[in-house]
Amino acid sequence: MDSQGRSDAPRPRRYGSSEDGRREGRRGYGPPAARRKCAFCANKALELDYKKVDMLHNYTTERGKIGTRRHSGLCARHQRDVALAIKRARHLALLPYTAEHVRKG
Ligand SMILES: [Zn+2]
Repeated sequence: MDSQGRSDAPRPRRYGSSEDGRREGRRGYGPPAARRKCAFCANKALELDYKKVDMLHNYTTERGKIGTRRHSGLCARHQRDVALAIKRARHLALLPYTAEHVRKG
């Protein structure tokens, strides 16, 4: 005589209203990322130089653009220095302005 059939079944949770679904103020999954220090601030011995192409290459994107601070994890001061060094290296043709596959089209 139970018209509902499953009256004792738990009600489905409404999306976005659960008690344990609070946002912790961070994006994505996993443990909260530790505040990573800028590589140049952390390591004083690390010197920035426009001739160090291999190092500067790590701060460019796949297309040859200068990476963002979010990408590099550098502080504002060192990101500026890196950007300047990349521009110098580009001027001397040590680094490309664009990726080869972009230029060819
Ligand atoms: Zn720094």
